[in-house]
Amino acid sequence: MRIAFLGLGIMGRPMASNLVKAGHEVSVWNRSARQHIDGARTAISPADAAQDAEIVWMCVADTAAVERLVFSEDGIEQSLREGMVIADSSTISPSATLRFAQRVAEKGVQWIDAPVTGSKIGAENGQLIFIVGGPAETVQAMEPLFKAMGKTVIHVGDTGKGQAAKICMNLQIAMIYEGFAEGMTLARKLGVAPEKMVELVQASMIRSGVVDYKAPFVLRRDYSPNFPLRLMHKDIHLLLDTAKEVRVKLPALETVDEIYELSSEEGWDDLDFAATIQLLEKWAGLGGQTK
Ligand code: NAP
Repeated sequence: MRIAFLGLGIMGRPMASNLVKAGHEVSVWNRSARQHIDGARTAISPADAAQDAEIVWMCVADTAAVERLVFSEDGIEQSLREGMVIADSSTISPSATLRFAQRVAEKGVQWIDAPVTGSKIGAENGQLIFIVGGPAETVQAMEPLFKAMGKTVIHVGDTGKGQAAKICMNLQIAMIYEGFAEGMTLARKLGVAPEKMVELVQASMIRSGVVDYKAPFVLRRDYSPNFPLRLMHKDIHLLLDTAKEVRVKLPALETVDEIYELSSEEGWDDLDFAATIQLLEKWAGLGGQTK
C-alpha cells in the first residue's frame, strides 16, 4: 500500500521502518530535520507526504502536534481525497479525536485512532499492541499494516474509543509505577536492599508487567528514555482533562501529577518516567540521583 508516515520519534521511526520492510511504499515527514528512512521517500511537508497516499499514519507527541499535522497550512488536509484513511498512533485527547474525525469526514476520509503500547522495544521489534477505535471494516482492511508493526490489535469500539482506553491504561501504568517507587524508597530507608525488595515483589502476587519492565532499569539507575517523563506527564494531563469533561474524580492521579510537576521542574522531562523515583529518594534524604 501507499502510506505517508508522519513523526519519526522514538516510536514513529521504527514503525515507519517496519512498514518499509513489509514491502509498502512509504513517504515520511518529520518536523525537525528532514529525517531519512532507508527505502522511504522523504517529503517536504505533511501535505507532500500525503499526496498519493492511501493511508496517512501519524505518531507524534500530543494533540496540538496532530492538529498541526492535519489542519495547518501545509497539513495533510490539503491532500485528502475521498476514501483515504488517517490512522493516528499518537496518544491524544479522545474528544479532540472526535472533532478531528468529524472534520475530515466532510471530505470522505475515515479516522482510525490506533494508539499503541509496547514502548520503544515493541516498536523496534514489530511487537506493538494497537488499541483501536473506528469502523470494523476499515480496521480489518488495515490488518496487514498492523501486522507489519505489531503483534496484537484490540478493537475497542467506535472512533475515539482507542484513545479513551489507551489513556485509562496509562493511568494504571503511572499508578503501579508510583506504588513500586514509593515501596522501594521506604524499603531502602528501612535498610532493605533494593535487589531483595524486587526479588520479593517478583515472587509474590503483586508482580506486574510494569515492574518486570522497569525494575532492572531502576536497579541500574538507568533513566535513559523508553517512555519519556514529559509524555507520561502529558498523558496525566489528558486524563485529568478528560475526566473533568465527563465529571469523574481521580484524586490519586492528581497527587501523582504533582510528582511529575516537580520532576519536570528538576529538569527530568527527557528522562524515562521511572526517574520520578528520584524525587521520593531526595525527599527521603537517600540521594543517588542520576547524572
Ligand atoms: P518522541 O520521541 O518525543 O517523538 C515525538 C514526535 O512528535 C517527533 O517526531 C516530534 O518531532 C513530533 N512532534 C512533536 N511536536 C510536534 C509538533 N508540534 N508538530 C509536528 N511534530 C511534532 O515521542 P514518542 O516516544 O515517539 O511518542 C510518540 C507518541 O506515542 C506520543 O503520543 C506518546 O505518548 C505515544 N507513545 C509512546 C510510547 C513510548 O514508549 N515512547 C509508548 C506508547 C505510546 P521532532 O522530531 O521535530 O521533535
